Amino acid sequence: MLFSKIPRIRLLDKETPLTLTKNLGDYLGGQELYFKRDDVMELGMGGNKLRCLEFWLGEAVSQKASTVIVAGLPVSNQCRLTAAACAKLGIKCVIIHNGEKTEVEANRVGNPLLNHILSVETIYCGNVDEYERARFAKDYADNLTKQGEIPYIIGDPVIGALGYVAAALELVSQAERENIDLYDIVISASGGPTSVGLLYGLALFGKSFRVHLISAEYKRDIFDNIMTNIYEGLCKTLDLTPPANPKDISVFYDNYLGEGYAKPTKEAIQASALLAQKEGFFAEVTYNAKALDGMFDLIKSGNICKKRGACFYLTGGTPALFAQGKYFNA
Ligand SMILES: *Cc1c(COP(=O)(O)O)cnc(C)c1O
Repeated sequence: MLFSKIPRIRLLDKETPLTLTKNLGDYLGGQELYFKRDDVMELGMGGNKLRCLEFWLGEAVSQKASTVIVAGLPVSNQCRLTAAACAKLGIKCVIIHNGEKTEVEANRVGNPLLNHILSVETIYCGNVDEYERARFAKDYADNLTKQGEIPYIIGDPVIGALGYVAAALELVSQAERENIDLYDIVISASGGPTSVGLLYGLALFGKSFRVHLISAEYKRDIFDNIMTNIYEGLCKTLDLTPPANPKDISVFYDNYLGEGYAKPTKEAIQASALLAQKEGFFAEVTYNAKALDGMFDLIKSGNICKKRGACFYLTGGTPALFAQGKYFNA
């Protein structure tokens, strides 16, 4: 089948819930609204990166990697979930953070707390940008290679996107089984593996769905490039071009981004609070709150089909919320 030639290690042992959010839907004028709950997974407190890690770690194991390296900010969900998955699989993991050790250790909350409990080896490369951090990780890996080890660096966007191609298939079969008439699907868009993987997977069904990608990081021109690269990479890796053109079934928005990545807007904070107050579950601020704000606006302005089911794809990241208290001052 689709993934039969691609190394994969199962980290989710069941589907994540597809939850009807009736209170919120009613509040938004009677929209039939569902949430795909990728915040609900058994391992490591869950989140989108676990689906990507099924393929990243699949590749690592197929290469007989002796050390898995993951680089990110101290608040990174990707670092936490890589460390948790490696713990479960018994693989050595090294985290590379940009930032200062003393600062992070002094405020051990959210993802840094979980990494600490996981007792994963962590290296700090100081206050550098993501490109310098990536170079540091590459040098670290090259050094391990010289010592006869086999390092694997987490993060290839096309390999990671395979997790969300699989997620699209899961979502569609779940909706079919539960007799849900799904049409508009909304998801946060950042580095790309998650949103573009999902878009590719949904495009396999022709023009059955409309996908709304709400930026949490990049403006349109940069994201266009990201999307093209990952999409073409998926067509090649899976040796399959979906019948629908991705541009025909998706809309990209960078107007809910505010001042940029991880800089919350007032509307996003309100959207996160509204979800909790209507439904009793949570959306962190960096990714999901902005996408929620976008979806609420699109429903209000009539840009989500009123007559059919809509789905917000919640990508998790809930532990990050514990370090975001300062934003909830309203
Ligand atoms: C990393 C992350 C995203 C963005 O995923 P990309 O694949 O980089 O677009 C969204 N939500 C959460 C919770 C994340 O941790």
